Amino acid sequence: MRRSIRERADAVFPSLPIDGITDTKVVIIGAGQAGLSTAYHLVRLGLRPGVDVHVIDRGPSTGGAWQHRWSALRVGDAHRIHDLPGMSETGLSFESAPHDEPARDVVRRYYDAYERHFGLEVIRPATVVAVESPASSFTTADAAPRPGFLVTVRTEDGLLKYRSAVVVNASGTWHRPRIPAVAGRDVFEGRQVTTPEYSEASEFAGQRVAVVGAGTSALGFLDELSAAGAHTEWFTRREPVFADSGSDLGRDRALAAVQRQDEAAKAGRRLPSIAGSTGLPRTARVRRLEGRGALRRRPMFARLVSDGAVTTDGIHVPLDAVLWATGFDAELDHLDQLAMDTSRGGIPVYDGESVDKPGLFLAGYGPQASTIGANRAGRAMAKEIMTRLG
Ligand SMILES: Cc1cc2nc3c(=O)[nH]c(=O)nc-3n(C[C@H](O)[C@H](O)[C@H](O)COP(=O)(O)OP(=O)(O)OC[C@H]3O[C@@H](n4cnc5c(N)ncnc54)[C@H](O)[C@@H]3O)c2cc1C
Repeated sequence: MRRSIRERADAVFPSLPIDGITDTKVVIIGAGQAGLSTAYHLVRLGLRPGVDVHVIDRGPSTGGAWQHRWSALRVGDAHRIHDLPGMSETGLSFESAPHDEPARDVVRRYYDAYERHFGLEVIRPATVVAVESPASSFTTADAAPRPGFLVTVRTEDGLLKYRSAVVVNASGTWHRPRIPAVAGRDVFEGRQVTTPEYSEASEFAGQRVAVVGAGTSALGFLDELSAAGAHTEWFTRREPVFADSGSDLGRDRALAAVQRQDEAAKAGRRLPSIAGSTGLPRTARVRRLEGRGALRRRPMFARLVSDGAVTTDGIHVPLDAVLWATGFDAELDHLDQLAMDTSRGGIPVYDGESVDKPGLFLAGYGPQASTIGANRAGRAMAKEIMTRLG
């Protein structure tokens, strides 16, 4: 049964008062690449940050999901990080960013400079706990029914509420790692770690570790773990395809992956995994892994048992740990009360806007889930939002 906003807020933070409602034009949920890009374009088109547009972010620091990534990850390790729009004005560019420093520190610093330079006034740490439209279950006395959305935010000092004509959800995927339904996950007695839980390769030195997944994160883990003295086994569902960067094969696969994402988003289906579907760039790391003999892929195992995995042809592979680098789902729990159609595993989104709830935009969702996709989404959405706002 759906709970009212008051009940939901009480469950999260029982003793805090709900302050008055702030009227605004746009609330942006998330200050990663997608949220910041949208905020930048809206401000450039005339909205006032902190007045007409409020950016809310849960992270304790700047950097979006990057602030949480593991320390060995460097800028350019996975793919290119595209500069945010207008970033050259800050004198910074990811093109010339240091490669000897954790990417999380670099991105944190660059986003911080960006937010300050453009005065984006991001509110953090602040978590959006619910978004509702007046027609849904909002029940408190002070909510006059108006078109738009009611957004409830939990902060360290209490609960804030915004009444907003438009909501841009740019909440990313980092806290929703996807783990495939594999038999025996509950009987395996070793350690199981997802990408957001991974911290240091040295923790696995001397251990037998299965890395599952066919994306660039999986390759990074194989590299770090094998260099740190772990014995790695690499399992993927499909045969990975390596492509020289800039090659037709790499471009074709990237375009096909974006198209698959777009089709699923439009149909409201669960978004397909990007991991492995874009092809793997043949980088120095790949050659290093080949040289070390750590790039021998096995087909996905059939099941886990207490002390390892059993392959489809019945071979027992002893394991101390399994590292699931198997992609992510969109983080959308805070939109539950909008009661959108989720019957096909996702929510229907057409050109970045919810089909069920016009005025709810999803930036960085599906086909936009890359730094360049997020940049483009921000520009297109800002134009569309300004038209709607008249
Ligand atoms: C390991 C890894 C490496 C990657 N490397 C690259 C790369 O090199 N190049 C590239 O183009 N892409 C890369 N990507 C994809 C990359 O994550 C995206 O391109 C981009 O950074 C995502 O930006 P975003 O704004 O959509 O999401 P995020 O960066 O995840 O930002 C979402 C923000 O929303 C906030 N948030 C979430 N829920 C709430 C809530 N309820 N209330 C308030 N705030 C909330 C979060 O705290 C977060 O700050 C990588 C992904 C992974 C997993």
